[in-house]
Amino acid sequence: KESMRLRWQEIHELSAGYFQKMLEERPEGERGRRYFDGRNIDRDTMRKFRLGYTADSWDGLINEMAKHGITPGELSEAGLSVKKDNGDGRISFYDRFRGRVIFPILDVHGKPIGFGGRVLDDSLPKYLNSPETQFFHKGRNLYGIQTASRGIREAGYSVLLEGYMDVIAVQKVGLFNAVASLGTALTRDQARILKRYSSRVILCYDSDEAGVQAAFRAGEILINEGLNVQVLKLKGAKDPDEYLQGHSKEEFLQELQKSLSYIEFKYEMLVADAVPETITAKAELIRRMAPDILRIKSAAEREGYARFLSLELGLTLEAVKEEIGGIDQKRL
Ligand code: ATP
Ligand code: MN
Ligand code: MN
Ligand code: MN
Repeated sequence: KESMRLRWQEIHELSAGYFQKMLEERPEGERGRRYFDGRNIDRDTMRKFRLGYTADSWDGLINEMAKHGITPGELSEAGLSVKKDNGDGRISFYDRFRGRVIFPILDVHGKPIGFGGRVLDDSLPKYLNSPETQFFHKGRNLYGIQTASRGIREAGYSVLLEGYMDVIAVQKVGLFNAVASLGTALTRDQARILKRYSSRVILCYDSDEAGVQAAFRAGEILINEGLNVQVLKLKGAKDPDEYLQGHSKEEFLQELQKSLSYIEFKYEMLVADAVPETITAKAELIRRMAPDILRIKSAAEREGYARFLSLELGLTLEAVKEEIGGIDQKRL
């Protein structure tokens, strides 16, 4: 229903404005200001990303929205308040986001469609996101797209990151082609959004084991959608935000240029686990890489990666191709 969508948009706009005002002007926002200050986020960046803050209150947003004629029930349907059944038939509501800095999720036009909230200390859960509703689907949006839709086209490639803070840090140095999936595993829809702007993507997830595993899965999805995937694993920093606290934009760009193709990255990771010394181990490694190579849509690229494996492992191209082909004769 179109009028419901309009109301939902209005609620998101008013809420984003309230969180922003809390952060920028209100005395309660001092904690939030100090938090972002500590993370090197200036006023200009705060405004561009429409960052906000919520005091640790059960009804700050509920009361504010009441002034605009928005009921707690409507807020709860928009995912901004939580409905509580008190057991005796009474129902009450409380603010979903409390005592957190707020990262509004903006659509391609810069309109808020959901929120992420981060605690200011190390309590859990670290991040809280808007729930799925009939109008908001995490898996169909990308954080940072309001600037990246243009940034990706201009750069000719996208940089796919893990977190809110990573996108902010990377865009802050002027790389507007950075986006992040919204705290979920990358979806096919998100891959398709990226492909609309460029078929080339560089994955730069966190350098911990979880980030490497997530990069493997995201890479598969992106390749299935026909994107050309490269991977950058940063050294000496746990994620791009941390990297950029100690390195320049130029250094980051150099790292991006050195990023490996998905296949090379996977090969490097597998070999780092166990160097294939024996013939059996080499054959096994080829079989483990085969599904990744077969997934690639370009025949020339598949041939190229077979050649890469043959050189790396000291086996003939024919043998490598036959081993890969053994998985699926038709595709190589
Ligand atoms: P920070 O630098 O603020 O600690 P981060 O982005 O490095 O944050 P990670 O723990 O690496 O934090 O998580 C990456 C991303 O995953 C976050 O930016 C957020 O979008 C999402 N995320 C993390 N924890 C949760 C959670 N508990 N629930 C939902 N999403 C989460
Ligand atoms: Mn992480
Ligand atoms: Mn981080
Ligand atoms: Mn991180």
